[in-house]
Amino acid sequence: MELDDHAEDLASDLGVDKEEVKSDLQNLVEYSVPIDEAKGSLRRKYGDGGGGSAAPSSKEIAEITPEDGSVTVTGVVLTAGKRSIRYQGSDHVIVEGRLADESGTIDYTAWEDFGLTPGDTITAGNAGVREWDGEPELNLGESTSLSLEEDSLEIAAEIGGDAELADLQTGDRAVNVEVDVIECERRTIDGRDGETEILSGVFGDESGRLPFTNWDPAPAIEDGGPVRIENAYVQEFRGVPEVNVSEFSTVTPIDREIEVGADTTTMDVGEAVGTGGIYDVELVGNVLAVRDGSGLIQRCPECYRVIQKGQCRTHGDVDGIDDLRVKAILDDGTGALTVVLDDELTEQVYGGTLEDALEQAREAMDQEVVADTIREQIVGREFRVRGHLSVDEYGANLDAEQFEESAEDPEARATAFLEEVNA
Ligand SMILES: [Zn+2]
Repeated sequence: MELDDHAEDLASDLGVDKEEVKSDLQNLVEYSVPIDEAKGSLRRKYGDGGGGSAAPSSKEIAEITPEDGSVTVTGVVLTAGKRSIRYQGSDHVIVEGRLADESGTIDYTAWEDFGLTPGDTITAGNAGVREWDGEPELNLGESTSLSLEEDSLEIAAEIGGDAELADLQTGDRAVNVEVDVIECERRTIDGRDGETEILSGVFGDESGRLPFTNWDPAPAIEDGGPVRIENAYVQEFRGVPEVNVSEFSTVTPIDREIEVGADTTTMDVGEAVGTGGIYDVELVGNVLAVRDGSGLIQRCPECYRVIQKGQCRTHGDVDGIDDLRVKAILDDGTGALTVVLDDELTEQVYGGTLEDALEQAREAMDQEVVADTIREQIVGREFRVRGHLSVDEYGANLDAEQFEESAEDPEARATAFLEEVNA
């Protein structure tokens, strides 16, 4: 674009004389001010009382990009959740949620209390746009004007934050879940205001399970039993999403049976590994091999890590503790990972106790015989495994909570599939 065109653009936008704008623009450009910055400063110069519209342009949500400095947008408030954050040394209560129009949805953070309520149709004038994780997000602050619209928009998105645990992702705000408290313990932690008591444990619903932290212990959670939680948020903790229940969340006991895990579906190994980690996942695959470091092993009494020949990498020469475990490679054709079985599951696949394993090793004068026995039991067979999947630079590991030989053999599955097709 030529300077002349820029000037014409600006002049018509601002409703001022083109020659005047052009001479100002010329000056700035001669001082090596980049053209966009020059236009911006002229918008500010003429925008104030200049009769034109220096106001940010109105946009549909789907059109907003991180490059927009600020926009004016009309949408329906889907969710609005309060949260306390520490910012520049002091605590602020912010409201976070999602806004939708006919074209799409966008996350927002409100730094002022605008009284946003799910279901309201609002116009946010001069809302800031920032980039978060590659996506645009709205910042509603001091310079944002907020007005309530009388006519609602027709939107496809659902109002409210009801969700199932399996759908929750790190970064989700203002979510509502109905869960059973599967595990719960009270702990004292060193919080941002000194020692404080929290609850932590595991929630479950029909879709699966997720760990939680309850920052302001709620009696209904500590008592256990099904609860409805409104306005929780999701943060990553040790590689998996964690449900955070804060002082602004509401927790209400509910009178409904929750069949934890009833609707979970088996995932492909490749798909599961691709997610980067899942707290609760079920996979079916063939055991291709039992890795070294399986069977009868010794652990350091200090750090509990597996040791070789009585040597801990950190604690040197130690008197090892005998233990059982299995590290098995599971493959379903879409991918492979290492399944780790603890002592109890290992006893099951070995078909004996730790004492039996020690006895077998003594007789053979070789502890490898225990791993060999396990190999004979599981290699080449199909297993259904359930547990926590973590993926890091060392690979994908699944800490198994359940490990059972898959009931359906390939032939039965093929028959079932054909029946389905012919039905
Ligand atoms: Zn050690």
